[in-house]
Amino acid sequence: MVEVTEKIAKERKKKDAFLGIDIGSVSCKFVLMDKDGNLLTSVFLRNRGSPIDSAKAGMAGLRDNIEQSENLGDYEIRCCGTTGSARYLTKAIVGADLAKTEIIAHAVAAQTIYPDVRTILEIGGQDSKIILLRDGIIVDFAMNSVCAAGTGSFLDHQAARLGIPIEEFGAYAVKSKNPVSIAGRCTVFAESDMIHKQNAGYSKEDIIAGLCDSLVRNYMNNVGKGKTLEEPIVFQGGVSYNKGIIEAFERHLGCKVIVPKYNVLMGALGMAILVRDFYLENEHQTVFRGLEVAEIEFTTSAFNCGDCPNNCEIVQVKMPQEGNKIIARWGSRCGKWDQVD
Ligand code: SF4
Repeated sequence: MVEVTEKIAKERKKKDAFLGIDIGSVSCKFVLMDKDGNLLTSVFLRNRGSPIDSAKAGMAGLRDNIEQSENLGDYEIRCCGTTGSARYLTKAIVGADLAKTEIIAHAVAAQTIYPDVRTILEIGGQDSKIILLRDGIIVDFAMNSVCAAGTGSFLDHQAARLGIPIEEFGAYAVKSKNPVSIAGRCTVFAESDMIHKQNAGYSKEDIIAGLCDSLVRNYMNNVGKGKTLEEPIVFQGGVSYNKGIIEAFERHLGCKVIVPKYNVLMGALGMAILVRDFYLENEHQTVFRGLEVAEIEFTTSAFNCGDCPNNCEIVQVKMPQEGNKIIARWGSRCGKWDQVD
């Protein structure tokens, strides 16, 4: 009992840290932030096939970073939040306190760093979004998770086709003096047009710059359709590493585009900010399972609910070491199976 009390007292003395997790379809980001909004450490991973494996790998990565650091052991995670397409499952796995959409998480991060931001462009591996803010309020947004032509996977595919590492793609594009026009309506059209331009003798630089222009055109015709993009414009997500795309946006919009320092971590950073505020406002007692999630075994199973003609397929996640406690369940159209242990 004395030992337990001492342990609690020790943890109370530790400094506050807040964990934001963004698990998307291609990559996963984990950000540990202090009370003042400073990023303490982060982990970036390619998706491990399932959100469960990704969450566990992220927790293991954070623990490695903490163990290798001189001062991160002084912090205690007080609150945790999840975003991204797998936010609800990840919330159940790690025991997060909050789950919010990517739109909210990205907007919060951008607005914290750039309080006057009016437009956020976000392009990831398999989706893209646009968020419009006026006086700090989200007034409009759009997401594309169906067509690959305005996302990072479009560039990945074309870079592989040209035999150029995607990391070098932007450097080629900015060398171009005369970007060629490439159809960007979809990956199939773009590829056949690119082959045609290659055979016509255009340089790789001009073709790559043309591909960047076509991605931007596609983005603007898709998520940007009918929207008024006002400055300051912040560009985030993995594709914002690509200088060719930044220049293509600036050409298209005729103004400067700002890329934040933590451009790929903005969703996770936004969640860390949201849970920090949630914790401070509510003196919230976290339900976070801790970085030990890396070692916990989770099992998934599925069954059909035959209680009506919908015959929904219900998927559930259990923790065998806690008597097969069900921690998450989804797939029910009527909400019948939503309640878990
Ligand atoms: S979960 Fe609800 S909607 Fe689905 S089959 Fe069962 S009763 Fe019908």
